[in-house]
Order: sequence, then structure tokens, then C-alpha cells
Amino acid sequence: MKYADSNYTATATRSFDELYQTSLDNPTDFWRQQAERIYWHKQPDTILDDSKLPFAKWFVGGETNICYNCVDRHLEERAEQDAFVWVSSEINQDLIDNHPGVVDAFKALDNHVEFYTDYAKRRLTYNRLYKEVNYFADVLQRLGVGKGDRVIIYMPMILEAAYAMLACTRIGAIHSVVFGGFAAHNLAVRMNDAQAKLVITVDAGLRGGKVINYKNLVNQGIEQADNKPENVLVVDRGIMPYQPQPIDVDYATERRISCDAKAVVDPVWLESNEPCYLLYTSGTTGTPKGVQRDTGGHAVALTTSIDLIYDGKPGDTFWAISDIGWAVGHSYTIYAPLLAGMTSIMYEGLPHRPNPGIWWRIVEANKVNILFTAPTGVRMLKKQDESWLTRYNTSSVKSFFLAGEPLDEPTADWLSGHLGVPILDHYWQTETGWPILSHVPKFDYKDHKPGSPGYPMYGFNAKVLNEETGEPCQPGEKGLLAISAPLPPGCLTTVWNNDERFIKSYYNLFNGKEYSSSDYAMTDENGYFYILGRTDDVINVAGHRLGTQEIEAAISEHPEVAEVGVVGIKDELKGELPIAFCILRDPSIIEDTENRFRVEQQIFGIVAKSLGALARPAAVYFPTALPKTRSGKILRRAIRALAEGRDTGDMSTLDDPTAIDAVKAAIDSY
Ligand code: ATP
Ligand code: MG
Repeated sequence: MKYADSNYTATATRSFDELYQTSLDNPTDFWRQQAERIYWHKQPDTILDDSKLPFAKWFVGGETNICYNCVDRHLEERAEQDAFVWVSSEINQDLIDNHPGVVDAFKALDNHVEFYTDYAKRRLTYNRLYKEVNYFADVLQRLGVGKGDRVIIYMPMILEAAYAMLACTRIGAIHSVVFGGFAAHNLAVRMNDAQAKLVITVDAGLRGGKVINYKNLVNQGIEQADNKPENVLVVDRGIMPYQPQPIDVDYATERRISCDAKAVVDPVWLESNEPCYLLYTSGTTGTPKGVQRDTGGHAVALTTSIDLIYDGKPGDTFWAISDIGWAVGHSYTIYAPLLAGMTSIMYEGLPHRPNPGIWWRIVEANKVNILFTAPTGVRMLKKQDESWLTRYNTSSVKSFFLAGEPLDEPTADWLSGHLGVPILDHYWQTETGWPILSHVPKFDYKDHKPGSPGYPMYGFNAKVLNEETGEPCQPGEKGLLAISAPLPPGCLTTVWNNDERFIKSYYNLFNGKEYSSSDYAMTDENGYFYILGRTDDVINVAGHRLGTQEIEAAISEHPEVAEVGVVGIKDELKGELPIAFCILRDPSIIEDTENRFRVEQQIFGIVAKSLGALARPAAVYFPTALPKTRSGKILRRAIRALAEGRDTGDMSTLDDPTAIDAVKAAIDSY
């Protein structure tokens, strides 16, 4: 059996520009070479079939299996290397005192966790992972789940969630991970849309010490759904007793049967274009879409990205601090690090519990080499005492990537100042599953430019087009960020069960030839891109179009502002007016009216100075929290509705409902 080389070196000596240009001029050559990074059970017949654009097929006729590439392939060389290090700051002595069943529940699953006063930890070798994934796959097969069946995974950041995802891909079942803590309604919508056969869940999740009743939410979701799953597989964590339903199956019991039988499940070889998973977008702007991911393209693109974008090596430790319910969690907590033979950190917990040093403590203890998260978590830490960052030895870190929302300069500077490593902003979407724009530390001749998430990555023919004419914009000119079809491997192949929505959402502009990102952007003379906000986050003040994001960037320069969201509200005179919602580093300062006035005036001044008087917010409010999606993005449409005194509408993607009250209180106190 041929063992592919995930760190394919023939490309390493070439320059970035040369490689990127080849990926555009000769995609077939470029991706044929990259495809050698993974194991193919059957080699592809055709690298690219672009005869039915915008639908593209990569590695046609090739047969592979993602789980095999993530796990089995590494057994020869790295069986005893850690595949995962799992850390939970939610499982602490306090929790165990209150829920003693937790310890037994780990035992029942042979999950050899080490318990400490304020956290729990498990190291899991590739060898152990192989066994667990096989048991899980065996259980799924006994439940009648097979190739093409859809499985909803509604689980917190626990190892069993990783086993579940890998077990699905092993047997060719299509998983759809739903953000933990989402409401029952969300689950019902996804159960219906995906026509799920099975739901995998837990008794309960934990968030900041609060118990979240997952099982109950699943029950409610099933009640509301028209398409009911045949079974619910429950990983009982011993946190919250539940009343088993007739369709419920206890995972520990089933696993024991598979474990006693030393079950081994052969990977199901899938044609490269058969789907491996569905992932619904965050829903920041509307109803979530079921992004459908292929198999071969996904594995090739992710493996390539680890080498040629993140500069990761087999054996390195990678930590994407994200939830598995988000695209980053799929791609860079689970699949990519394993595809590349790395160790991945899986963390259950918040950035500031038990204290704001927890990230850095985990970095030190596990010698993390590459970090990746969304700016929102960093901003949360920036509000805390800085010394938390300097207490730990973070010298193992080579680079820190951020994505998901605009990275403001003060946050980037704060982080790089303390860590002394490049803070690399990069840009991608759930739809693409890997970066569209990035900086590439491996090819360091291109400088990192603050405020820019970099330049287009391999196979992404990204450009800025005039929204109305479709003509390319000049450097410095604002337009729509578009990508010529076909998108490179690993990107969405369609919207699940809805080709029409795929075309309507992404290819309606520009004759179906360009994928529309729905983000505004601009380039500079050197080809660096700047993201200027979402197309539906633009406000029109007296005929002038202003990006809420530009105003936010200006306000975040204020040293006392930790976080800011700007929205436009209707105004009879000017059409729309910007208003700002600022979370202060020290919220108590505005209890003093004079101080509040001072901060307000300073914010007005900063905006007027950098963007002109028109952009000056009509009002500044100081809430203690902002409504966000589970992936940490500010839900501007909710804030806008509150500011206009309207109902917030569909809030199913909202992370923390109390943030709505916080915004209301801030408006009322004005
Ligand atoms: P929906 O599509 O359902 O509205 P969403 O767009 O928030 O949800 P994601 O796919 O998670 O869902 O987010 C991708 C979006 O996040 C991008 O289109 C862009 O608006 C924003 N984004 C991602 N990375 C960056 C970045 N580095 N800088 C600025 N914005 C970013
Ligand atoms: Mg989007």
C-alpha cells in the first residue's frame, strides 16, 4: 500500500507567486501534484471537470476516504504520537463534586482522563484514535447507518464528537454538525433540511459552569421536526440524568459490544465528488444554507493548506480554537491537522475560565506551534489583565492566524506585542472551507500588512469587481469580492438539495462566471486585499454609502473601547444614520455622567477625523454585551431591529440571549 506524503516537498522550493500562478494557469497540473499528498484507493481519471460550471468536479473517478487519510494512514509512522490532546476547563473539581457521575461516565467509555482541580485532560494517540473510530463506526453500522445517510451531530467539544465525525466519514455517512447550545428550532430545521436518519448527542454540555441540557433540546427538536430521525445515539457524560425515549440508544453500552468484539470497520471508498458533510452557514445575514463538501477535493485542499499556507509539519501541534460547529472547527480542529499527521488540541471551555491565562497555559503545556482563532476571543482577553499572557512560556508558537471577522489593528498589535510572533489575518467562508486570502509564512518574502488579510491563495482567482458593471476595480476602488469559477478543490459543490439556491446565492451576478462572496473589498498596488464589510452591512447616509465596518475600525482605536458594533437606523431626513454600540474595557467608567460625555465626544471625534462628519454616529450606546452568532460574529441585524424598536425576528443563531437585553438596557438608559 502506498503511503502518500502529506508534506509533499517538490513544491517547497518554489516561490509563492510561481505556485499561485501555476494554480491559475494550469490548475490541472497544480492539483494533480497536490493530490499526491493523500492516499487514493483509486487514482482520479480526470483532475477537473468544468463542463457544467458553476458546478465543478475535482478528481473525477478518484476513490478515497477521509477517515482513512486522517487516521489509518498514520499508523505506520506515528501510531504513538498524539492525534488529539483534549483539555476541558469545564470538567473541574467543582463540577465533579456536584456531578460525581462524570467520573464513572468517562470510565464507562474507557476515556482515560486525568483530572486536576481546575481542568481535565486526555492525550489520545493515533493508535487509540483508530480503535475508537472503528468502534464508533461499528456502532453506526449496527444502527443501520450507511453510505449517503445523513447524521446530525449535536455535541460539545468532547473527543466522542471527533470520533463521531470521523466514523461517519469512514462509512460514507454524511454528517452535519450543529452548533452546541443551539435552540431546538435550529435542530428541527436541520433535521428536516438534511432528512437526518440519526442524531448523535450527549446528556448535557457545559458552558462557563452552566449545564446545557442537550438531550432535552434534541427531544424538543424532534417534536418540532417533520422528518424524525430513526434513532438518537446518546453519549452519556453523567452530568444530567435523562429519561430515555424509545428511539434512544446508549453509546457506552453499544461501544462496549464493539470494543469486546475488537471491531474493525473497513473504510468505504467514495468517489471524490461524493459528499462528506453538510455544514450550515452561521446565518449572520439570513437563513442558513447547507454547504455541501466533497470528499477528495476536501482532503487534498486541506492537506495542501497545512503545508503551503499554515506551514505546518507532521508532528507539529496545531490549535484551532473554535467550536466543531463552525467551519474552522471542521477544517482545522478535526480534519486538516489529522490529514497532515499533526497533533490537534481540542478545548472545551471559555477563554477566560478558570482565568484569562488558560489559552497560554495550554500553549505552554502542549508546545503549540500554530494557533488559529477568531478575533472575538482575543478581544475578550484584551479586556483582562495583560499579565496573564506573559506568565507562560509561549515560545513554541510560530504563528497565530485569525479569521472570521475583521481584525482591528489594536487587537493585532496587542497580541503580537505580547507573543512576539506574526499575527496573520486571513479570510475565508464556510463555503470555501479553507482560506481564500491569506499570508503565507512559508514564503516570507511577502510582508504582512496590517489591516489586510493578505492575497489570494492557490486556485482562488479572487478579484474586486464593480457591482453594477462587473468590470474589474482599480487598486483603491471599492467593489465586490468575486472569485472566478471554478472554485478550487474543497469548496462547496452545491447547497444541499438545492442547486437553484446555490446559483441564486452565489452566481446570480456576472453571468454565472464569478462566485460572489457578498463582501466588499479593495486591493492595493501590491495586490493585497482589504475587506470592507458585507454587502448588506452598508448604510446610506444622505446618499453616501458607508460601511459599518469602516466606522467600527475607527472607533476601536479608542483605548477605552474593547468592542464595537455599528448599525444604520432609518432616518427621515438622511435616509439612514449610523449608531454605535461600544463595550468598554471598564464599563463602570460611564457611571459618571461627565466621563460618559467625554468618551462619547471622543468617539464622535475619532470617526469624524478619519471618515468625515457624515460617518459620525448619531448616538453611542454602552451595552455590556453584543448579540453574536455562536461563531462570534456580531448580529447587526438584531441590533438594528432593537434600535428601531422592531422585533428581532429569527434569532435562532444567537449565542447568548442575554445580550439582547443588554442592548435594550443600553438603549433605554440613554
Ligand atoms: P451567513 O453566510 O449565513 O450570513 P456568515 O457569512 O457569517 O453567515 P461564515 O461563512 O462563518 O458565515 O463567515 C464568512 C464571513 O466572515 C465572510 O464572508 C466575511 O464577511 C467574514 N470574514 C471572514 N474572515 C474575515 C476576515 N479575515 N476579515 C474580515 N471579515 C472576515
Ligand atoms: Mg456568508
